[in-house]
Amino acid sequence: MSSGTKFRVAICGAGIGGLTVAVALSRYPDIEVEIYEAADKLAEIGAGIGLFSRPWEVIKKLHLEEDLLKTTDIRPTDSPVPSFRYRRSDRPEGIEFYTLVTKGQLMTFHRPDFQNVLLRRLPPSYRIHCSKRLRSYSQRLGGPVNLLFEDGTRTSCDVLVGADGIRSAVRRSLLGEKAQWAQSENNWSEAADMTAMIEPSWSGTNAYRALINADKLKLRDPNHRVFTQPTQYLGRNGYIIAYPIAHGRMINFVAFKSQHHLEHSKYPESWVCPTDKTEFAAMFRDWEPEVQALLDCVDKPLRWAIHTVKPLNSFVSGNVAILGDAAHAMTPHQGSGAGQAIEDAYILSLLLGHPLTTRATISRALSIYDHIRRPFALKTQERSRLNGQYFTLSSPELDFDAVPEQEMLSKLKILGKVFTKNWEWAWMSSLGGSVQEALRLLESSG
Ligand SMILES: Cc1cc2nc3c(=O)[nH]c(=O)nc-3n(C[C@H](O)[C@H](O)[C@H](O)COP(=O)(O)OP(=O)(O)OC[C@H]3O[C@@H](n4cnc5c(N)ncnc54)[C@H](O)[C@@H]3O)c2cc1C
Repeated sequence: MSSGTKFRVAICGAGIGGLTVAVALSRYPDIEVEIYEAADKLAEIGAGIGLFSRPWEVIKKLHLEEDLLKTTDIRPTDSPVPSFRYRRSDRPEGIEFYTLVTKGQLMTFHRPDFQNVLLRRLPPSYRIHCSKRLRSYSQRLGGPVNLLFEDGTRTSCDVLVGADGIRSAVRRSLLGEKAQWAQSENNWSEAADMTAMIEPSWSGTNAYRALINADKLKLRDPNHRVFTQPTQYLGRNGYIIAYPIAHGRMINFVAFKSQHHLEHSKYPESWVCPTDKTEFAAMFRDWEPEVQALLDCVDKPLRWAIHTVKPLNSFVSGNVAILGDAAHAMTPHQGSGAGQAIEDAYILSLLLGHPLTTRATISRALSIYDHIRRPFALKTQERSRLNGQYFTLSSPELDFDAVPEQEMLSKLKILGKVFTKNWEWAWMSSLGGSVQEALRLLESSG
C-alpha cells in the first residue's frame, strides 16, 4: 500500500455494478482498488439495457455520458417524451391502448458497448483479476477483511464490496456471519431468518432474450413498429418487449412467460441456458401479426429463469457491503436492476471517498449506505414485481377475466395509468435527495 493511501477496497464482480463502483471510486486517488472477477474474461451478454433518468444522473456525474452517446442514436432530454407504446396483443387484432410518457428518454444500449465504456474509464492502476471466484470472506471487528478464492488463494483488504450478482458469495458469507452472531446470542429465530435469505428464489417467470437483426425484420415487415417505437405487447400470462439498439442495427427482444402461482418455488433446471424458440413461441401463437413477425426473426434465444433475492434486512456487515443484484436482484419489469446497482455504486463511493471516512470509520460509512439505499432498492424490487403482474394482465387489483369487449379499451387505459403510477419514481424523482441525506448523516456523525 502506498503512503498516500487511506484504505484498500476489493470489488468482487466486474458486472455493471462492480465496474460502476470502480469508476466512481477512481475519483478518489487515496483509495486503492483491486477487482476480482470469476469469469476468465469480461463479457456482457449480447442484449439491450435501458436506463431511466435517475441512473443517467450518475452517468453524467461520472462523465461517462459523452462516450455512451457515441454508441446510441438516442439523445437525452429533460422534457416529457413517449417511451413505450402498449398494446394488448394476445388476439388476432391488437389494441393500442397507452403511451408511456417519461420525463427524459429511456436511454437504451447494447450491453457490451456499455461495459466497454466503463472499462475504458478505469485507471491503469486498477487491476481486474479474472478467474478469481470468491469462495468466502472472514473479518475481525475493524478489519482487515480476508478473502478466500475457489482456487485456494487468499488476499486481504480494508473494505470488501460484493458486486458478484444474484448468486453472490459475498452475500452468502455476510448472512452466514450474521447468522453466527445471532446464534452466539442464542437468537435462533434470527439466525434461521438469515440463513433462509441466502438462496434466491424463482419469480415464476422466464425471460427469453434475443437480439433480432434489423435487416432480417425489415425483409419480413419493412414498416414494423419497433424500428421507430419501443413497444410492449401485453397479454395473459406473458408479454414481449422490443426496442432498437446499436444505432438501429439490432432489436432487443425479450418475451416473458409467467406462472405467478409458482413464485418462490424451486426452479428445476439451469437458470440461464440457450434454448429453442419452440419453448416459448407456442404460447404467443395466437397473438397479433406484429408479434408473429418478431417471433419469426428470433434466432438462438437464451432462457433466463428470473430469480430474485429475498428482501434483506441489511446490505452491510462490518467492513463489507453488497450492491446491485447481490443485494437486491429484482424482476426486470421496471428495467431498473442495473439502474439500482448504479445508484448503489454512486452513493457507496461518495461515502467511502469522503475525507471524513478513514480506515477507522469504514463501518460507519457502510451503515449510512445501507440506511439510504436499502429501503429504496427494496421498494423498487416490489414495484418491479407488481409491474410483472400488470404486464401479464394478472394483477389482483385489475381483473381482466370477464371484461366485455366494449369496455376493454377503457379498462386497459386504467391499467396504463396504474402501472405508470407504480413506475414514475424512475423518472419523476432524483438521486439528489439521497446524496444530500447520505452526506448529512456522514458529516453529522463525526
Ligand atoms: C431480461 C432482463 C432484462 C433486464 N433489463 C434491464 C434494463 O433494461 N435496465 C436495468 O437497469 N436492468 C435490467 N435488468 C437487470 C440487470 O441486468 C441487472 O440488475 C444487472 O446486470 C446487475 O448487475 P450486477 O453488476 O449487480 O450483477 P451481474 O451483472 O450479475 O455481475 C456480477 C459479476 O460478478 C461475477 N461473479 C459472480 N460470482 C462471483 C464470485 N464468487 N467471485 C467473483 N466474481 C463473481 C460475475 O461473473 C459477474 O461478472 C434486466 C435483467 C434481465 C434478466
